[in-house]
Amino acid sequence: MYTSYVFTPAPRTALAVRGSADRFAVRRIYCIGRNYADHVREMGGDPSRESPIFFSKPADAIAGAGGVVAYPPGTTDLHHEVELVVAIQRGGANIPADEALNHVWGYAVGNDLTRRDLQAQARTKGQPWDMSKGFDASAQIGVLTPASEFGEPSTQAIWLKVNGQTRQQSTLDKMIWSVPEIIAALSQLVTLQVGDLIFTGTPEGVSALTPGDEVTAGIEGLDPIEFRIGPPA
Ligand code: MN
Repeated sequence: MYTSYVFTPAPRTALAVRGSADRFAVRRIYCIGRNYADHVREMGGDPSRESPIFFSKPADAIAGAGGVVAYPPGTTDLHHEVELVVAIQRGGANIPADEALNHVWGYAVGNDLTRRDLQAQARTKGQPWDMSKGFDASAQIGVLTPASEFGEPSTQAIWLKVNGQTRQQSTLDKMIWSVPEIIAALSQLVTLQVGDLIFTGTPEGVSALTPGDEVTAGIEGLDPIEFRIGPPA
C-alpha cells in the first residue's frame, strides 16, 4: 500500500558491505559501556563483572567514516573510542549465548565519539547520557564484513591512531562481556531485530581530539576506518 507523507522522509541509514553493491539498512544502534577492564580503570571505575551497561545512539548518527567529522558543539573534551561493531541479521528476545553468533550478519570497525565532559557531568549528577553519546555524527562505522569471512571475535588486534601515533591498542579477547554474552544480555532487555548494530565497548587509551586530527582505526580482518576532525560546525 502506498503511504503518503506530509514531507519526504529522510533516506534510511545504511552501511557499505564488503564484496557487494548491496547495503546493510540500519535499524537501531546499541552500545555497551565499560567492557574492557583497563578502560574501566582509566575512567576511574572498578572492572568487576556487574551487569552490563547499555545505551544507544540514533541510527542517523552514523557519519564521517572516510571523510570529515565537524567538531561538535557543546564540548571541549571530544574523545575517540574504537570498537568492534556487530551487525544483527536475525532478531530475537532472550537469545541464549551459545546461539547468539547465529544472529550476527557481520562485523565492522566503529568509533563511538564521546563528549567526555558532558558524560562526566551526567555521571556526577545522575543524568542521561544521550547528549554525551548520541549527538550528530557520533558514530563512524566502516565497511561491514560478513561473519563467514571474519570468523568469530577472539584474539584479533584492535587499534586506533591519531596523526599516526597509536592511542589505543588491544585485542578483542580482552572484552569483559564477550559478543555472545552481550547479545544474550541485551536481548533480555529489548527484542533485537534485523538491521540492529551493537558497539561492543572500547579498550584503554581513549583521549581527546582537536580540529585537524587525522584518525585511523582498525581491527585485524576488517576494513580500517579513517576520518578527520574538521572545524566546529
Ligand atoms: Mn564506547
